[in-house]
Amino acid sequence: METVSDFFGSMVFNDRVMKATLSSKVYASLKKTIDEGVALDPGVANAVAQAMKDWAISKGATHFTHWFQPLTGITAEKHDSFITPAPDGGVIMEFSGKELIQGEPDASSFPSGGLRATFEARGYTAWDPTSYAFIKGKTLCIPTAFCSYGGHALDKKTPLLRSMEALNKQALRILKLFGNTTAKCVRSSVGPEQEYFLITKEMFDQRPDLRFCGRTLFGAKPPKGQEMDDHYFGAIKPRVAAYMEELNNELWKLGILAKTEHNEVAPAQHELAPIYTTTNIATDHNQLMMEIMQKIAEKHGLVCLIHEKPFAGVNGSGKHNNWSIATNEGQNLLSPGETPYENAQFLLFLCAVIKAVDDYQDLLRISVATAGNDHRLGANEAPPAVISMFLGDELGAVLDAIETDTPYKGAEKTQMKLGVDVLPKFNRDTTDRNRTSPFAFTGNKFEFRMLGSSNSIACANIMLNSAVAESLKIFADKLEGVSDFETALHEMIKETIKEHKRIIFNGNGYDDSWIKEATEVRGLLNYRTTADCMPHLLDKKNVDMLTGHKVFTLDELRSRRDIMLENYCKTVTIEANTMIDMARTLIAPAVSGFAADVAGNAAAKKALSQNIACEYEATVVKKLSTVTDRIYAGVTKLQDEVIALHNAKDVIEESAMIRDKVLPKMSELRVACDEAETLTAKDYWPFPTYADILFSVR
Ligand code: ADP
Ligand code: MG
Repeated sequence: METVSDFFGSMVFNDRVMKATLSSKVYASLKKTIDEGVALDPGVANAVAQAMKDWAISKGATHFTHWFQPLTGITAEKHDSFITPAPDGGVIMEFSGKELIQGEPDASSFPSGGLRATFEARGYTAWDPTSYAFIKGKTLCIPTAFCSYGGHALDKKTPLLRSMEALNKQALRILKLFGNTTAKCVRSSVGPEQEYFLITKEMFDQRPDLRFCGRTLFGAKPPKGQEMDDHYFGAIKPRVAAYMEELNNELWKLGILAKTEHNEVAPAQHELAPIYTTTNIATDHNQLMMEIMQKIAEKHGLVCLIHEKPFAGVNGSGKHNNWSIATNEGQNLLSPGETPYENAQFLLFLCAVIKAVDDYQDLLRISVATAGNDHRLGANEAPPAVISMFLGDELGAVLDAIETDTPYKGAEKTQMKLGVDVLPKFNRDTTDRNRTSPFAFTGNKFEFRMLGSSNSIACANIMLNSAVAESLKIFADKLEGVSDFETALHEMIKETIKEHKRIIFNGNGYDDSWIKEATEVRGLLNYRTTADCMPHLLDKKNVDMLTGHKVFTLDELRSRRDIMLENYCKTVTIEANTMIDMARTLIAPAVSGFAADVAGNAAAKKALSQNIACEYEATVVKKLSTVTDRIYAGVTKLQDEVIALHNAKDVIEESAMIRDKVLPKMSELRVACDEAETLTAKDYWPFPTYADILFSVR
């Protein structure tokens, strides 16, 4: 029988295949590019293209595509076939180095936020040799970056690669200060845990809101929801197990290290986590994973919902971004070391993250902002919209001791100056689990928990990498050239803790009293919605930092702000229109029809005898009429607000109108419709209810 190790990575042009198919000279040159970021030798490209094509054809591929991540949040591809006509009337299969390195998708309809004038509607895609090419279906997919001819990034990968480079550069400066001269490269790695819902296709097809918006816009609370917690880590149903098995196999073929899978808190909710890898590869893999999750579901008569909040009153789906930084030699820089000297280095990197998260709370919030995720953040299930960090008691005590120059209780030596023999020694892996913190230290990595399930992880990691690069730059600028390194280091760590400890919070992040303390006492930011946070992308400090590290140009930042806000407005407008349509053409007629039948029953009874009271019918008809009137009024009010959006002078104003006018009217309309659902006989209700959907997979 074929085992996993036989087919793992079988559809990936990975290191093993490269070694087997490339000449040793070409392989060595490509490897240098992959491992050390050395510019690609153009002569090498042709040889690689040739080998890649032969390998792909041997696997049944007929087409190739440059696979990229435009700003819409999904991935894009345009297939070209390998076929080239031969003089003898036949065809030959060709693929050149030029085609490998650069492509020109007709990309005029991808959002560019004004970066690409329409007369030069084309951008180009450029091969990212650090992420392996793979075969999907019959197509060789080449991971690429997507830029305009002016050199502006039109995608999410380009700034991600730039942010990794910024982090690499600054981290190497710090390592040198600690005497490390052998590390060639520092990279961030990520393991994203992905949550999703599985429902039957039959249910999905009957709900226009799910089909158009990916989430339900109506739905009364079911009699049984998640209150029993009986789904979490419960036995996996056979149909789900069959889905997961096929999903795993497909992911493994693509070299994606899918590892853990379990049921989540909500009914029908599940989680899939791969083993962590380099950030740009993890990002490609996560995009691919989301796509394949949906594709395989279809084969099983299921639909995989990746929306952040498919069901009100039921936990939404997030994505946990487990992030760390390591050298090419395998040293995890966020892992407390064995020796005090290693610990000093660890504390410096830790402080860099603390400072980064405090200084750029807004960028981290912005990086996860979408209309969908706004429903989760601060709703007692996901971390709040306020960013804070959890370090755990032990690490907290170490930092306290350093800040106040008092001996750390766990320290072997009592003198508290950082240095070879005096740093407090503490053990790794002692963090208790705090699941309410947006940004938690978990022993040797940080877990950023605010991401929405459908977010590309690129955005969060761009901000994280850049902000930490900025802290490290400030540290390196201070420490390089000092005569007494240990004293300077000690002082700097102490100062950093003093200045940024307000961001550290080990308590319950879901508590209302915390939000009050965070905002009123500690002065932390609380941007509750996308409309609130997104304009701050262009705050001077953010522009200075991101352009300073060459992660974005000012134009790129402007275009991204506009695209993100446009997305927010479009998403909510589609939802509002879907609500109007469903309320008007499905819900109101159903409720009214039921009322008419109940009234008809009463009339029939009365015809038999005027003495029959018909209290039930009278009460129900009255209630149904009142609620139908409310629904109708709600539709009119919502419609007016949607029409008024045309008056917005720009996308910032429009997003504020969405937040302040449209969303509240949507909630109002929903309340009336959900009430109507509880009053209407099941047979009359025009689409499946929450109970039908959430327990549909058996
Ligand atoms: P939990 O659900 O308890 O948070 P999981 O085991 O489901 O934990 O997920 C942990 C994730 O963190 C996995 O994807 C794992 O590969 C990843 N991870 C572990 N070590 C690191 C590291 N050094 N850097 C980045 N991610 C890591
Ligand atoms: Mg987790």
